[in-house]
Amino acid sequence: MEKVIIIGSGPSGFTAANYTARANLSPLLFEGFTAGGIPGGQLMITNLIENFPGFPEGIQGPQLMMNMREQAQKHGTRLITEDVVEVNLKTYPFTVKSMSDETYSAETLIISTGATAKRLPLESEKKLWGKGISACATCDGGLPVFRNKELAVIGGGDTAVEEALHLTQFASKVYLIHRRDELRASKVMQRRVLTHPKVQIVWNKVVEEFLGEQQLTGLKLKDTVTGESVELPVVGAFEAIGHVPNTAFINGQLELDDLGYIVTKKGSTVTSVEGVFAAGDVQDHLFRQAVTAAGTGCMAAVEAEKWLQERAGI
Ligand SMILES: Cc1cc2nc3c(=O)[nH]c(=O)nc-3n(C[C@H](O)[C@H](O)[C@H](O)COP(=O)(O)OP(=O)(O)OC[C@H]3O[C@@H](n4cnc5c(N)ncnc54)[C@H](O)[C@@H]3O)c2cc1C
Repeated sequence: MEKVIIIGSGPSGFTAANYTARANLSPLLFEGFTAGGIPGGQLMITNLIENFPGFPEGIQGPQLMMNMREQAQKHGTRLITEDVVEVNLKTYPFTVKSMSDETYSAETLIISTGATAKRLPLESEKKLWGKGISACATCDGGLPVFRNKELAVIGGGDTAVEEALHLTQFASKVYLIHRRDELRASKVMQRRVLTHPKVQIVWNKVVEEFLGEQQLTGLKLKDTVTGESVELPVVGAFEAIGHVPNTAFINGQLELDDLGYIVTKKGSTVTSVEGVFAAGDVQDHLFRQAVTAAGTGCMAAVEAEKWLQERAGI
């Protein structure tokens, strides 16, 4: 039986692995395969990370994740490159079933399976992803390529509005493209964005095509009322159409919030089931950053260690 099983190989999973490995808990970590993105998590699909501490020149996302993986292994983490398809949290010890039908049991679980950003299902989006298109303005909006340029945010909820407002610090102008004639965002956020001199809301429009060959040069938009198409020249487009937390394998055995994120006790990673901890984006729809994911990964490891000690009467 394992002391700790960690599910997910993003910044939160690998940080939890470092801490539990160094606490001699010999963690077993499921890296994932395809269920909630690729092994290494969301940073594997991005380029330069400029805000993760310790890298004054920035670091490429995949390199950062390879470093985290190597560090976790160096401290003794064992990795399995498979998806977890099922967990049983109703009996103790907990069990974890992998995609190859193997079952593992564990005294504690750390769930760090992240959330997947929803993306527009367009061929041109795939082609230009990372070449002017991103799903995270907080992360990528400050890159030199976007400074003093016209940019677009696609969406109409709180996240889209926040991203648009964030971009006003760098962009010369921000278009907020929304498919309806009113925003879903809270009234306070709406007021801020509607009165911001740098933001123009483009109502009743959906993206038909991302334009450009090597780099994004514009958007082809379709009017949802008239059906007419127009082109909008922008060098950056940020999709803010929601995230899906990777919790399907939990199958209702943990308390989730209305959006499907794992509910953790305030200021901790404790979930609704004793001995199960959650870290990173799978329990956080507010910050969604690598450093906060790593921070909660550390918290989960420390809390799991403490829980094991208390159980053993140490
Ligand atoms: C385009 C983009 C750019 C970004 N840029 C930045 C940036 O510059 N700076 C920054 O701080 N943040 C950035 N972020 C956000 C950052 O990537 C996330 O906040 C961070 O990766 C969350 O870490 P995590 O460990 O919670 O989960 P993730 O990184 O999402 O990793 C989740 C892991 O769980 C695995 N998994 C999922 N389901 C299963 C399963 N059933 N079984 C086994 N494994 C599973 C996945 O394979 C993956 O390894 C960016 C995000 C995106 C999308």
